[in-house]
Amino acid sequence: MLINGEFVDSAGGKRYQSLNPYTGQVWADLPDGDDVDVARAVCAARTALDDGAWGRLTGIDRARLMRRLADLIAENAAALAEIETTDNGKLLRETSFQVISLSEWLHYYAGVADKIHGRTIPSDKPNFLVYTRREPIGVVAAITPWNSPLLLLMWKLAPALAAGCPIVVKPADQTSASTLELGRLFAEAGFPPGVFNVVTGVGAACGKTLVRRPEIDKVAFTGSTRSGIDVMKGAADNLTSVSLELGGKSPNIVFDDADLDAVLNGTIAGIFAASGQTCIAGSRLFVHEAVADELVGRLVERAKTIVLGDPLDPATEMGPVALESQLHTILGYIDIGKQDGAELAVGGGCPARKDLRGGYFVEPTIFTGVRNDMRIAREEIFGPVLSVITFKDEQEMLNQANDSDFGLAAGVWTNDIRRGHRIAHALRSGTVWVNSYRAVSYTTPFGGYKMSGIGRENGVDAVEEYLETKAIWIELSNQTRDPFRIA
Ligand code: NAD
Repeated sequence: MLINGEFVDSAGGKRYQSLNPYTGQVWADLPDGDDVDVARAVCAARTALDDGAWGRLTGIDRARLMRRLADLIAENAAALAEIETTDNGKLLRETSFQVISLSEWLHYYAGVADKIHGRTIPSDKPNFLVYTRREPIGVVAAITPWNSPLLLLMWKLAPALAAGCPIVVKPADQTSASTLELGRLFAEAGFPPGVFNVVTGVGAACGKTLVRRPEIDKVAFTGSTRSGIDVMKGAADNLTSVSLELGGKSPNIVFDDADLDAVLNGTIAGIFAASGQTCIAGSRLFVHEAVADELVGRLVERAKTIVLGDPLDPATEMGPVALESQLHTILGYIDIGKQDGAELAVGGGCPARKDLRGGYFVEPTIFTGVRNDMRIAREEIFGPVLSVITFKDEQEMLNQANDSDFGLAAGVWTNDIRRGHRIAHALRSGTVWVNSYRAVSYTTPFGGYKMSGIGRENGVDAVEEYLETKAIWIELSNQTRDPFRIA
C-alpha cells in the first residue's frame, strides 16, 4: 500500500492474491489492509493538508506538479496499460488509449488549478468589504471499481488535486495493481508525501471504514448502485459530502431513418466493448420495427465474427470479463432471459475454443423479443448481453426508455435533426449521444439521473465538488455597535 509516500505492508501483515482473468492464474500479491491501515492513510492525507507542504502550495504550484505527473504518466503509459490489462482483462488497445488520456485529464485540470478564486460581493451593508475564498473541501476518499480503475480514478483525482485536496484511494481488490503503480510517479513528480495514498484490501471492508472516518470531507465513489447506497448511508453519520457514479441500463434508440452502418458500429461498441463491463453500456436496444429485421440480422452476423482472445494481442476484439464471479453473474442473467421468454439470437454461453478455457470468456450475446419489464431489460448485467426491444410509436418508446431505475446514458440514431433534439431532451439521463455512442471527455460533465448517481464528474465545474466557499466580512468603519443599543 502507499501511505505517506512509502510503500508499506498492512499493519496486520495479511496479504491476498489477484488473478489474471485471461489465464485464471495468480499474477499479483497485495497487502490485505484493515482499519488500522485506513486510519494511517487518512491521517497522512490530513497532515499533508493541515500541517504539510501540500496545504501551503498555491494553485500555480499545484498546476506545475500536475503537469509533471501528466508527463510521467505519458512516459510510463505502456507499462501502466499492460498492468491494467493483465489485472482486469480489458483490451490493451483500450487501456493504452485510456492511460494516454489520463495525462490529458491532468493537463486540463492543471489549467483549472490556477484559476480558482473567490469573489468580491457588493454588500447591502456599506461598512463591510465582503469577499469569498474557495478552499479545498479537505481530505477526499476515492473508491473505484474494477472495470476502468485508472480512468475512473483520474476523474476524481485531477479535480481534487486542482482544488488542493489530498486523497486516499481504495481501488477494487481484484484490480489494485495499476493504482499502486501510478502512486510510484507521485514522488517522482515532486508531490509531497501524503497527497496520494492507496489502501488495498479484500472486499468492501476498507471502503466501508474509509467512508465512515470523521476526517474524510468528501467521498467520490464509482461502483454499483447497491454499494453506492451503503456509501451514502455511511457518509451520512458525519454529513460527509458524496458524489456517486453508479450503474446503468442505458437505452440505445434506432429510428427507421438512421444510417444503419453507423448504428451497427455504435451498437457493437456500446454493448461489446470492454466485454460489456461499462456503466454506460447500451444494453437496451430500442429499434423501430421497420428496420428491426435488417439491423438485428447485421448485428448477429457481426457478433459472430468478433474475435475473442488474449487482451494483450492487438488482433483481439473482445477479452474475458474481469472476474470469475462476474462470469457466473452474466451466465445467470442469460438463463433468466431464456426463462422469461426472450429469444436468443446469438451467443448465450462460454466459447468452445480450447485456448480460451482458462479465461473468463462469455460469447457476445443478443436477445430479441425482449419486453421492457423482463429482468434482462431492467437489471444491470455488466456483460456482453444485448436486449433488443422493437417499437412503432415514438411516445410509447420514450415511456419505456425512461421506465428504468437508472438514468446514466442513452443513444439516439436518426437523420431528423428535430427528432434528435426532441428525444435527447425527453430522455431522463445524464448523457445523450445523437448518432454516436460511448464518447466521453474531460471537457464534458458526466453523471447519472435517478439510481445512476449523484453529482457530475469531468468538465470545468467538477472542481466545485472538491471546494468549499468561505465568506469573509471586513468591517471598514470601526463602528461596531453595542448589540443592546440599536438606534
Ligand atoms: P462495487 O460496488 O462492487 O465496488 C466498487 C468499489 O467499491 C470497490 O472498490 C469495492 O471494494 C468498494 N465497495 C463495495 N461496497 C462498498 C461499501 N459498502 N462501502 C465502501 N466501499 C465499497 O462495483 P464493481 O462491481 O467493482 O463495479 C461495477 C459497478 O460499477 C457497476 O454497477 C457499474 O455500472 C458501476 N460503474 C459505474 C460507473 C459510472 O461512472 N457511473 C463507471 C464504472 C462502473
